[in-house]
Amino acid sequence: MFENLSDKLDRAFKVLKGQGTITEINVAETMKEIRKALLDADVNYKTAKAFTDDVRQKALGNNVLTSISPGQLLTKLMNDELTSLMGGTTADLNFPATPTVILIAGLNGAGKTTFTGKLANYLKTQRNKKPLLVADDIYRPAAIDQLEVLGQQIGIPVYANRESKDPVAIAREGIAQAKQNGQNVVIIDTAGRLAIDEAMMVEIEQVKDAVKPHEILFVVDSMTGQDAVNTAKVFNDRLDFTGVVLTKLDGDTRGGAALSIKSVVNKPIKFIGTGEKMEALDVFHPDRMASRILG
Ligand code: GDP
Repeated sequence: MFENLSDKLDRAFKVLKGQGTITEINVAETMKEIRKALLDADVNYKTAKAFTDDVRQKALGNNVLTSISPGQLLTKLMNDELTSLMGGTTADLNFPATPTVILIAGLNGAGKTTFTGKLANYLKTQRNKKPLLVADDIYRPAAIDQLEVLGQQIGIPVYANRESKDPVAIAREGIAQAKQNGQNVVIIDTAGRLAIDEAMMVEIEQVKDAVKPHEILFVVDSMTGQDAVNTAKVFNDRLDFTGVVLTKLDGDTRGGAALSIKSVVNKPIKFIGTGEKMEALDVFHPDRMASRILG
């Protein structure tokens, strides 16, 4: 995860690390290198520029130049700024009602159905919840099959209605079943498309309006870089989601999405997917991710 970015940041810092004295010019040059490393990692231009300008200003303002170990101070500053760029603190899910309704949105292939299973498994094994999964993709029978297989694998019930072509009705039926059976979290896996599509957006808006979910999690493939951020923006404008799930961080993703999404849509990353298995899910901690990136 982010090896390339870590290497590049490390190289950019080499000049400063361990030096007894550094100059304003050193700092400016290092920030230029850092900005390049961020852009190479697919961080969007505005974010990268704002970030390095900020670090530079703080570095100069915090007397980094006159401190005993300027390299160390700058590393700490970078760590703090990266953490804040990714949202600062860990953003937990909210469970304000019984059942709590969580709507899952995103494009096809992003990892929605896999995440739906992973989230249910996490809530059951680590948060002591009783989830129900709802298969709300009326276009792909295979998507229902996939969710049922996952449900069996993790021992969590799945509500599906293969006869119905009405996603709003299916979502409502799922919630009614959860109430009847005492399940306290309902996770609704919705239909995606290969690209942003008006019909898909209208459909998911209708489901949102009907069931008033407490959480709307937008799932996006981190490997798609700046596209991930652009897609997030469109979904957020329509759905005003409550959190982001970044999938496939186990691959050789360059990291740009993790670093840009919060500042572009101002919604926290809540989870990261780190593999295909049901256990491959982590709660997102901005501070840990920052330390990881800085190595
Ligand atoms: P959906 O169309 O959005 O429901 O996407 P799926 O859940 O079917 O996932 C698409 C593909 O991505 C599947 O092959 C998943 O196994 C894979 N996948 C999902 N999440 C992850 C992840 O975090 N890491 C990796 N390596 N693969 C993932």
